[in-house]
This record gives sequence, C-alpha cells and structure tokens, in this order.
Amino acid sequence: MSEKKFYIETYGCQMNFSDSEIIASVMKEADFDSTTDVKEADGIFVNTCSIREHAEQRVRKRLSELKSFKKKKPHLLIGVLGCMAERLKDQLLIDEKSVDIIVGPDAYRDLPKLINTANEGQKAINVILSADETYADINPVRLGSNGVSAFISIMRGCENFCAYCVVPYTRGKERSRNPGTILNEARELFESGFREITFLGQNVNSYKWEGENKDFDFPYLLEKAALINPLLRIRFATSHPKDLSDELLKIIAAHPNICRSVHLPVQSGSSKILKLMNRKYTREWYMERIEAIRKYIPGCAISTDIICGFSGETDDDHHDTLSLMEWAKFDYAYMFKYSERPGTAAAGKYKDDVPEEVKSRRLQEVIELQQKLSHKSNKRDVGKTFEVLVENESRKSKDFLSGRNSQNKVVIFPRKNFKAGDYVNVNVLRCTAATLIGDDAESFYM
Ligand code: SAM
Ligand code: SF4
Repeated sequence: MSEKKFYIETYGCQMNFSDSEIIASVMKEADFDSTTDVKEADGIFVNTCSIREHAEQRVRKRLSELKSFKKKKPHLLIGVLGCMAERLKDQLLIDEKSVDIIVGPDAYRDLPKLINTANEGQKAINVILSADETYADINPVRLGSNGVSAFISIMRGCENFCAYCVVPYTRGKERSRNPGTILNEARELFESGFREITFLGQNVNSYKWEGENKDFDFPYLLEKAALINPLLRIRFATSHPKDLSDELLKIIAAHPNICRSVHLPVQSGSSKILKLMNRKYTREWYMERIEAIRKYIPGCAISTDIICGFSGETDDDHHDTLSLMEWAKFDYAYMFKYSERPGTAAAGKYKDDVPEEVKSRRLQEVIELQQKLSHKSNKRDVGKTFEVLVENESRKSKDFLSGRNSQNKVVIFPRKNFKAGDYVNVNVLRCTAATLIGDDAESFYM
C-alpha cells in the first residue's frame, strides 16, 4: 500500500466537486491515497473557484492558513487547482510563496509529473487548456459519497461568453463527452447501488456528440440514461434557457425517473440588462420557456440564479427582476451580488456603476422575496404524498431520515426501518421555508 497521502479541499460549483473526484482517480493511479485528515497529508490540493471575487478571497485566506502546515512539515506540497489556477497562472506563485503546484482544469492528468517536479524542489505549473479533454476514460473516485447519489460530468467548458462571467476563460472551449462512456458510468453506478445521478456541465442542454453516422444530443442522452432502470433517478444542471427545447421537455415528461426539477438561471428580469449580459434571450422569451415547462411537466419545480446590481441596472430593472420572480414562483434560487471579474467583456466595456450599498439592498430584497416564494411553494406541498429517495440520517436527529423528492426538495421523516437508497412514499404533514416534514405512507422498495 502507498505511504503517500493527499488531501483535497473543494470550493465552488458541483462541477468542481466532480473534478475533485477525477483528480482523486488520477492520484490513485499514481499511488497516492486520499485522506480526510489534513494533518496526515503529504500533498494538500485546493480546487478553486473564480466566479466571484469573494470566492477567490476565501481561497487566498485558506492558502495563508496552510503556510503553517508547511512550517511543521517541510516536505508538504501545496497545489492550487482549477479556475483560480487557470485565471492567475504563475502570478499565483509570485503572490503565494507556499504554493508549489498550479494546475488548470484541463491538466489534471499531468498531476503525477508535476508532483515529481515539485518534489525535486522546483515550482510546477500546467495551465494549458484543451479543445478535447473530457476525462472520459477516468473512473472517478467517489469522495465523501453517501452511496446513493453521484455526479457525472458530461461536458466541459463554455462558449456562451455571458458578459459578467469568467468561466469561458478559465474552463475553455465547450466540448462534450462520448455518450457511451457516460452511459457506462451511469450503469456501473446503478449496479453498485447508486440510485441517483446528476449530469453536469456549464450548459448541459447544449450537449452534442458527433458520431460517425449521426449526432447525439442531450434529449437522446437523457432518454438512454432513463432507460437504464426505472429505479435510477436522473437529474441535470445547469441548463441555459436558450437551449431548453420542447423536445427536451417532452423526454422529461415521458420518463418518471427523470426528476421533475429544472434549474434555469434567469440572471435578471429586465430585457435591457439581459442584453447587456449577452444572455441571448429576453424576459418574454424566458417567460415563454417557463410556460412550456409548466405545460409539458405539470408539478415540475423550477429554480434559478439571479445577479443583483449588474452594470447599468436601475431600480426599474431591479423591479423587473422582482416581478419576474413573483410571476415565475420560483421554488428555489441562488442569488448573488454582481462581482466584476477581470478579463470579462463587462469589465472591459461597462462601468461597475451600481454602488455597493445599492447592490446589497437589492440582493436583500431578492432574498426576502425568494424566502417567501420558497415557503409558499412548500406550503402548497403540505397534504401531498411524494416518492422520496433516502440519502442520509437527518442532521438534527438520528430518529429521522433525510431524502429528496423528485422536485429536489429536502424531506425529513421518521427513520423506522428505512435506510439510504430506499424509496419511500412520504405524506407531507408540515413544512418550513427550506424543508418538508412528513411520515411514510408506504415503502415500495427496500
Ligand atoms: N453555466 C451556468 C449558467 O449559465 O447558469 C452556471 C454558471 S456559474 C458557475 C453559476 C452562477 O454564478 C451564474 O448562473 C451566475 O448567476 C453567477 N455568476 C457568474 N458570474 C458572476 C459574477 N461575475 N458576479 C456574480 N455572480 C456571477
Ligand atoms: Fe458563465 Fe454564461 Fe457560460 Fe454560464 S453560460 S458558464 S454564466 S458564460
């Protein structure tokens, strides 16, 4: 057995968590075991996020804490991986003296070589972006898994160039992964006991694989995955509104194991701001897509992302966002203050002209409205029965279990003899803004 151990810490989106599992697999091949105890690690990797300035500041703070580990253990290697590595490149080696290794999102296969270089006392860096790397042949090591749900990365990169966003610069060209390898990974997960997979990509619904005789798109992939077994739930994130086709909605509607939950980031309710953001749709177009979801998939949950205080956003634009939220009745939302990112189109072309206190006030209004909408959405579910996939013990009590319904809502109910991986029909008795609380009606698979 290998003596060397690495510890990985992940910041940011689901895609980063999925990448950490690919990194763990590469490290395993190089005879490194993963550890959850940072003190026993020979290598500490920080898988980073650049999406907002705050995300980068958190990583910087962590790197300064890690310096003290290095003082106690001089052979310890510290690596910065992912988007921040890609964005800042060798500048990070200048700023952060304790860092030995810098690796961009397309260079993880190179890690063993970079570690050797660093062990010889040199700084090691690979931030080359690739047009075709999808890590398709790598079998991810499921880190911190509950054995029930897993991520499968189906595409990488993004070429949408939303004006505010750093992702096209840190993750490079959009490329899709061979569908055969995706479906094999899904089948293997099901056979080893997993009951839910989430297809991941910055823009999953623009998935496209060019085969020899025909092209394979996202509806095709989703349908094939749904047919693996009715007991395997399929989720996906994130969809771009411009690529949300009726064909995709019809495929979801036809397969009960494709979850009734669509995450459709709107970013703003103002067509003027959407144009400045280069989102490629208008308020009206987005509303029409919401209507299409409601028409084809009744009972589908809809969640979104919202940015407050983008360049040029007036109070009227902000009220357009609030009114769209009320209209759409979003079940859930991720809400952010606009953070100007160096190198993006917005940083080059527009002034970051909404004062900080106005951004904060608008964000607060958006959060308060969403809390009301989420609570109302949960209240509508009281008295209904949902099929819940059990994930873990409830955090508050070991007498209760926690799982999710198809709409991606957390449901808590008495443990009885149920266990992770079971499907349980739960009657919802009451709710909070964040959780449904119920009792089992009957279990149909144990
Ligand atoms: N590809 C996905 C999409 O298009 O929605 C997700 C991209 S990003 C990882 C997740 C969210 O971060 C975005 O939907 C957006 O709301 C937010 N975001 C991206 N850049 C931002 C910025 N510069 N400032 C504030 N929020 C930002
Ligand atoms: Fe960023 Fe837009 Fe691409 Fe999403 S679609 S990753 S927000 S550029």
